[in-house]
Amino acid sequence: MPTLKNELLDFLTRRRVPEAIEGLRNYQKGIKFSDVRYGNLNGKPVKRVCFIIKSRGCGWLAKNSAHEPAGCTICSYPLKTAMGGELSENHVMESFREEFCRYDYDYYPVVCLYNSGSFLNDDEIRENVQLSILEQVAQNKHIKQIIIESRAEYIDEEKLGKIKKILGDKELIIGIGLESADDYIREVCINKGLTKNKYEDTLRLVNKYFKSLTYILLKPPFINEYTAVTDSVRSIHYAFTAGTRLVSLEACNIQDFSLPFYLEKAGCYRAPWLWSIIEVIDRCFHLGPIFIGGFKITPLPRSAAHNCGKCDARLTDLMDRYNLFMDKRILAKAGCRCKMEWETLMKDKLNSKEDIDQNIGAFLERAAVLFKPRTKEE
Ligand code: SF4
Ligand SMILES: [Zn+2]
Repeated sequence: MPTLKNELLDFLTRRRVPEAIEGLRNYQKGIKFSDVRYGNLNGKPVKRVCFIIKSRGCGWLAKNSAHEPAGCTICSYPLKTAMGGELSENHVMESFREEFCRYDYDYYPVVCLYNSGSFLNDDEIRENVQLSILEQVAQNKHIKQIIIESRAEYIDEEKLGKIKKILGDKELIIGIGLESADDYIREVCINKGLTKNKYEDTLRLVNKYFKSLTYILLKPPFINEYTAVTDSVRSIHYAFTAGTRLVSLEACNIQDFSLPFYLEKAGCYRAPWLWSIIEVIDRCFHLGPIFIGGFKITPLPRSAAHNCGKCDARLTDLMDRYNLFMDKRILAKAGCRCKMEWETLMKDKLNSKEDIDQNIGAFLERAAVLFKPRTKEE
């Protein structure tokens, strides 16, 4: 008997990968490989340059097979990669150099090296390329902080030691996606493939050399708005207790060919309310530095967290300012009549495992009617 989770992943495997491959050419034409975002460097507002390094694509998604579906349900980042194809080391390095040289780092003391996967996975970016990129960044005296992301399984002491030698005093932040501290939500709704033990061990290792950052996902599929807020608050508490130095609260967005994309089409999902983000920050701010993410990703999501439409631009501006100054009083300036609608949602009941299973079952039933499953021959 297939479990609900396997049915769900099977649905995604048959839809997401073929559709993503079809859409790839169009996406890659429009992709920018760097952009400038707001940030905060040790209490000071800064602008940071985010690079999208060309890579072979997320190793966790590459593990996907008919027998063992992998890849996080909420993600379509592989669209920005070679999706398993080979990229020459020279090509990756040269395209990074070209992009890197476009900026004057007098104005951008923080640099993010993203690759739509794990920077530290040698199968995604060869180790000598990882180290060469870091060397190039380390040579610039204006750059004070570097941010990379990696799944926990690719972070080991030997690699961190090598990086430490290259970076010296420059601060490195390593972001790890935990998404939720709730095992059922993390494994069934998101398919994260990460245990809390592994997460905790990795945090300890990262903190020994550098600074850890944890991504928490606000509103994974199959839970209501109230459960989403509660889950993020609990997860942030857990992450700081486990030792993370920073948290990024990522409001779930609708990326093409991800599960939320199909859920939204089936009328089973709405991206989180901006009020939910503000609520989570308000309740967790005292625990440690929490950034708000999930809006500026590449490619831009089909839709992201929003309110009524009238107040969205104003509130997202406030969130940008919050990210710059890390001051929650900025968010207290938010106001709109739509808050009453959101407050009603906060009176819903907390979803149980059974509710989640029921929601998955209901979606699969609708999906069977709405989306014709693809066969291998198609
Ligand atoms: S969220 Fe990260 S780990 Fe998960 S499939 Fe996407 S790139 Fe891979
Ligand atoms: Zn509003």
